[in-house]
Amino acid sequence: MIDVKDVTFSYAGAARPALDGVSLAVAEGDFLGIIGPSGAGKSTLMYAMNGVVPHYHQGEFYGEVRLAGADTHETSLTDLSHTVATVFQDVDAQMVAAEVEDEVLFGLENFGVPHDEIPARVDEALALVGISDLRERAIASLSGGQKQKVALAAVLALRPRVLVLDEPTGALDPASSRQVFSLLADLNERSGITVVVVEQKIGLLAEYARRLAVLDEGRLAYCGERREVLAHA
Ligand code: ADP
Ligand code: ADP
Repeated sequence: MIDVKDVTFSYAGAARPALDGVSLAVAEGDFLGIIGPSGAGKSTLMYAMNGVVPHYHQGEFYGEVRLAGADTHETSLTDLSHTVATVFQDVDAQMVAAEVEDEVLFGLENFGVPHDEIPARVDEALALVGISDLRERAIASLSGGQKQKVALAAVLALRPRVLVLDEPTGALDPASSRQVFSLLADLNERSGITVVVVEQKIGLLAEYARRLAVLDEGRLAYCGERREVLAHA
């Protein structure tokens, strides 16, 4: 589903590459965790997978990334967004509406989903994430865990084949973090959606990921089945 081939990327003006000769493949239906210390290149790898690198970030890009067969370098972010959905680290900055329902609705309208299909898609997405009861709530009044779920519902409404999340539990307490991971595992198992999660620490990925990639100073230090990686550590 995602094929990263020998990718080296340096942000404009950076002394060393953020990604340095990284290759890995993510199969359809996989649940991949990307871990490593701050500055290791995790976010950059995630951005390379969803096309934000090189489309939005200036720099030197070598290698190739294919997403569902499309070369991300040659494909517009709009086209790529029909395959991959992203939940960014700062979900507050990602959200555009004041109310939960409008947040999900906005994405669907923006995506050009026919108007008569939108209400059912909103219902479906809210139910999928288990937040139908929050429908009319102001986003500003929600907890961090609830906001994370709203951001998830808004992207799931677009029915992506790949879901990419940057430190989804970074701002959450242990109980909400587990809820988010168990939700992701459920989506992965039931809908076969391919999930890629970036986290600084292995944390719950040790339980929920199928495979793990370990980054260190822009290089892929290890990538394999979760159990193998854990045995290595
Ligand atoms: P994290 O380590 O949690 O991924 P950072 O604090 O490194 O987050 O980065 C936060 C934001 O700042 C990101 O959008 C990243 O692209 C940007 N950023 C990080 N390092 C630099 C840098 N040296 N110059 C410009 N922007 C940067
Ligand atoms: P991580 O997510 O593992 O913390 P990043 O991918 O955010 O790592 O960063 C990898 C390297 O690239 C770091 O040295 C960081 O400072 C640099 N970097 C990240 N974003 C930017 C940016 N927008 N501009 C310049 N340098 C950046």
